[in-house]
Amino acid sequence: MKYSEYQPRSDLLKDRIILITGAGDGIGRAAAISYALHGATVVLHGRTLNKLEVIYDEIESLGAPQPAILPLQLSSASERDYELLVDTLDRQFGRLDGILHNAGILGERTELINYSPDVWDDVMAVNLRAPFVLTQELLPLLQKSQHASVVFASSGVGREARERWGAYSVSKIGIEAVSQLFAKENMHPNIRYNCINPGATRTAMRAKAYPTEDPLTLPLPESIMPAYLYLMGDDSLHLNGQSIDAQDD
Ligand code: NDP
Repeated sequence: MKYSEYQPRSDLLKDRIILITGAGDGIGRAAAISYALHGATVVLHGRTLNKLEVIYDEIESLGAPQPAILPLQLSSASERDYELLVDTLDRQFGRLDGILHNAGILGERTELINYSPDVWDDVMAVNLRAPFVLTQELLPLLQKSQHASVVFASSGVGREARERWGAYSVSKIGIEAVSQLFAKENMHPNIRYNCINPGATRTAMRAKAYPTEDPLTLPLPESIMPAYLYLMGDDSLHLNGQSIDAQDD
């Protein structure tokens, strides 16, 4: 199936509660707005409060369901921070129907022999540890959903290690494994776990990774939303432990 050609119903995510990490910018921002426009109550996570407030206002002005904001710095989040996050979601909503683990950082574009171990730790914390811990912590809320979808952000360099992508490539290969393990070990048939590779998309991260590339040659985050909607909505109920591409080759 070409996920880029998926045509969602306008009420695909009606009454769903969906957490989007890294919702303040790039693909996460587009997903938050798109999910909200398809009926979801979105929980906007990020590390920069004012960016989240801008998206919040934008969603409200579009007449979509009122979102919520949950700031958390993922590179240094403690057990207590995660507990507070879960507690806040529990008290406000009592369940969770989906998570888009979208937040990510690039790290260094250099050979492993020169790679800074501190940058390595940071990339692993945000791209790999945080989605694992968040999923684990949020399981009790996901279990209360009729059909919950957990979606992890992968990459082309998450399918096969690519030179000079260092920790980023390792973290994305790792997240594919995390998604598969959650899927294979799944004790709750109402929860599914999948990965999505957005493909080259016009965002700040892509510009940092390819500084000489003309961003105007790349699709905007808004244009890759069909695949993001597909994985979050009930049309993908049969998918578990899979990894899909948002763009066609
Ligand atoms: P951006 O850099 O544009 O956005 C990343 C988001 O993650 C930002 O909102 C950022 O917050 C948030 N974030 C980063 N670090 C942290 C942290 N420590 N704690 C909390 N939030 C954090 O990236 P993209 O939109 O391009 O990428 C989204 C996802 O897609 C990533 O996982 C990326 O790896 C993946 N991807 C992107 C591709 C592309 O071409 N763009 C290609 C392949 C994969 P803030 O705005 O405050 O910095």
